[in-house]
Amino acid sequence: MLKPDFQRELVKLLGKRARFDLDLDRLTTWGVGGPVRFHCRVHTPLEAAQVISLAKQAKVPWMVLGRGSNLLVSDQGYPGVMLRLAGPLAKLELEDGTIKAGAGASLPALVKLAAVNGLSGLEWAVGIPATVGGAVAGNAGANGFEMSDITDQISLLLENGEIKAFKGQEIKSGYRHLDLPAQSLVLEALLEFKPDDPAMIHRRMKRLLERRLGAQPLIKRTAGSVFKNPPGDYAGRLIEQAGCKGLSVGDAMVSVRHANFIENRGKATASQIIELMQVVSDRVKSQAGVRLQPEVEVVGRV
Ligand SMILES: Cc1cc2nc3c(=O)[nH]c(=O)nc-3n(C[C@H](O)[C@H](O)[C@H](O)COP(=O)(O)OP(=O)(O)OC[C@H]3O[C@@H](n4cnc5c(N)ncnc54)[C@H](O)[C@@H]3O)c2cc1C
Repeated sequence: MLKPDFQRELVKLLGKRARFDLDLDRLTTWGVGGPVRFHCRVHTPLEAAQVISLAKQAKVPWMVLGRGSNLLVSDQGYPGVMLRLAGPLAKLELEDGTIKAGAGASLPALVKLAAVNGLSGLEWAVGIPATVGGAVAGNAGANGFEMSDITDQISLLLENGEIKAFKGQEIKSGYRHLDLPAQSLVLEALLEFKPDDPAMIHRRMKRLLERRLGAQPLIKRTAGSVFKNPPGDYAGRLIEQAGCKGLSVGDAMVSVRHANFIENRGKATASQIIELMQVVSDRVKSQAGVRLQPEVEVVGRV
């Protein structure tokens, strides 16, 4: 009943930056998922706060969509609002050995900007197709490093519409997790680096990228690691040992290159990926006694 009004209010606020029933398979790296009911590109914290407030009034769920590189979106799609942080909220600004990064900015662009300016600390992130906000909020990491290592300050939009800056260490971080206040979103992060020779940084990045390309199916449609590493072990090792490499359901296949990746080989659906994840999880449980936990986030009803 409220939906037509809600839609009208969004258009009044954002014009063509409010769109409806947009297919999420084009907005996620896995390339699966049905439509998102409301898709809003917001350019200011105020616009974000207004969209969220309208969503709450209309009792419509909302979430931020980054690059969609850690999401498994249901084939039925998402019946709420997805906010994309764009325009000024996706800017990267170099400031005296630090970079102020808008949450909507591309992580690969940030990695490049840091490298060409002789700022070391983010080499490990080469090859991760995220936004800054998604990487900060999920404490992305690799090779023993993670976003929280270089995060000096985070600006959040809180549930009550207030914008508040937190020092990095004020927010508890863990493995692929940041303890953000409920219903908040990351607007911006101030990132600290160590000065180094750009040529040395590029050399390290090249080595890490080559290693990734050799070990992971980077050019295929995936969402990175599907399961979290259990304490003291690797999900990929357990999955490989359980004989799951190459296993498939429809067009979803456990990668032969890296067992903790599931490739979309064409027209895979979210339900095929979920079914394959269940088969893998059950095989690992029966062979190694470990129940793997998903690292990818399921969105919508599956
Ligand atoms: C080829 C490949 C390699 C990968 N390698 C790695 C790796 O080495 N290490 C690693 O950690 N991950 C890796 N990933 C997974 C993924 O890139 C990360 O989890 C990444 O941090 C997700 O960012 P995103 O912008 O795509 O977020 P999305 O997938 O769009 O969203 C993920 C979650 O973050 C939330 N979110 C996004 N933006 C914000 C914001 N501004 N404020 C609050 N919440 C927000 C979303 O609401 C959602 O809950 C890889 C993925 C791929 C496809």
